[in-house]
Amino acid sequence: MSIVRDFGNPDLFLTFLCNSKWNEIKKNLFPGQKTHDRSDLIARVFDIKKKTLLQDLKKNCILGRIVADIHVIEFQKRGLPHMHLLLILADEDKIRDPESIDRIVSAELPDETLDSRLHEIDKVRMIHVPCGVLNPYSPCMADGICTKGYPKQFGEATTENVDGYPMYRRRHNANHVTIIGTFVHNRWILPYNPYLAKKYNAHLNDEICSSIRSIKYILKYVYKGHDCAKVIFKNNGQGSIKWDEIKTFLDARYESYLEAMWRLLERNARKISCYHSFTSAFARHAAGVFL
Ligand SMILES: [Zn+2]
Repeated sequence: MSIVRDFGNPDLFLTFLCNSKWNEIKKNLFPGQKTHDRSDLIARVFDIKKKTLLQDLKKNCILGRIVADIHVIEFQKRGLPHMHLLLILADEDKIRDPESIDRIVSAELPDETLDSRLHEIDKVRMIHVPCGVLNPYSPCMADGICTKGYPKQFGEATTENVDGYPMYRRRHNANHVTIIGTFVHNRWILPYNPYLAKKYNAHLNDEICSSIRSIKYILKYVYKGHDCAKVIFKNNGQGSIKWDEIKTFLDARYESYLEAMWRLLERNARKISCYHSFTSAFARHAAGVFL
């Protein structure tokens, strides 16, 4: 609340995922090595790419002038590192209409004959893998429906603010790819910025957020804290497990080998930066804790 009061609502929510097939990683593996053998390489390359992306956004203002940004690096249980990034735009660059949204976000496959490279990147990185009746056991499914709301509806034009997120333009055209034997068209495309997708060749989800509901969700998302896991070893069929009420409330912490390497290399896991001076003590405190 302090950050929003001081700098305004976040305007963009980006998710940037490490791509283990980046040339910088593949070319530096020793003979016989797989990517998962080199957590040091993954951590270092992702850190360099992350810094370059932040420079593109903050100094080169690819998506507009930015007054503040907040990011966290996550690893989840077994996944590659990824960054969740909130951007607060300067008042003069706020996204106010569908035309401005279309300028920086696309949720459509490009024509393969016109832009084959972007088409290939989208095909691999920016598709919500078909779920629902096509794939009822997809991790996004709960109670028979996709928790992410896919497939989205076709739409000839972008419309503003449905539950805090715009309904992006998804034209019903001939552009499609085939994934796991399924015909995939614009209803399954994640929102992305074409320039950044091509430059970084990675999953780089770019969402516009504007309502209180979406802001609450994304701020909670970046502040939710570390991953937890609880593991129980069972004695197979012999004896009973003693129930320990105190251990039930143990506050544990889970770190993957990639996260361990990230920390050994002393890389930042969270950061808030802003280009205006803080005016509230709460915001100063939040920044201090976060750094
Ligand atoms: Zn789904």
